[in-house]
Amino acid sequence: MRKKLIIVSGPSGSGKTTLVKHLLSACKSPLAFSISATSRQPRANETDGVDYYFLSPELFQKKIADGDFLEYEEVYNGSFYGTLKEEVQRLWNEGKNVVFDIDVAGALTIKKQFPKESITILIRPKDIETLRERLEERASDSSKSIEERVSKAEYELQQAPLFDSVIDNDVLEVSTNQLLEKVNSFLS
Ligand code: ADP
Ligand code: 5GP
Repeated sequence: MRKKLIIVSGPSGSGKTTLVKHLLSACKSPLAFSISATSRQPRANETDGVDYYFLSPELFQKKIADGDFLEYEEVYNGSFYGTLKEEVQRLWNEGKNVVFDIDVAGALTIKKQFPKESITILIRPKDIETLRERLEERASDSSKSIEERVSKAEYELQQAPLFDSVIDNDVLEVSTNQLLEKVNSFLS
């Protein structure tokens, strides 16, 4: 049976992972995280099958050709990310509502396919400088990769009017509560 889809999106470094982790631990309704596939290399603290399904670029392309993705994007130059149809089906079979952490284009693609069953929430940083500082403090990306992420952010934030809801992630405690409230009211 189809359950609901909670699509959290926004620029890299805006706080999606932090907010989604809090949501998954604090929400009383059955929720599960949709593990995306990616062709990028794992970071030191990431585990295959937990953070992502890490696929070789060749296998990722094969899955595109086989029609295995609900959506996929080349989010950054040469790095593909996508939502596998079977991942969402697996979580629905478990009776869970599915939580996504995906880029803006992917979020809007899924919304189009499930207009009534999904909510799209954009996480917005205070400003681009704050975003850059958070990416630098997170220290998980090279300076080239940080530049790529920051330069995409402006375009992504311009898409805010296309989202069902926007959360300004300034004070963490406030934004975590806002996300929880929005999801609770969407699911009720
Ligand atoms: P994303 O998943 O969108 O790329 P992260 O959740 O990894 O973003 O957050 C980027 C960095 O900013 C992390 O180091 C995280 O701990 C930090 N961070 C997230 N939200 C806040 C906040 N409201 N205030 C201060 N730091 C934050
Ligand atoms: P990161 O490399 O920092 O883990 O993620 C980079 C970007 O890819 C983030 O904006 C994240 O939301 C996005 N992303 C992760 N998984 C998916 C996915 O399955 N589809 C799409 N379209 N974007 C994704």
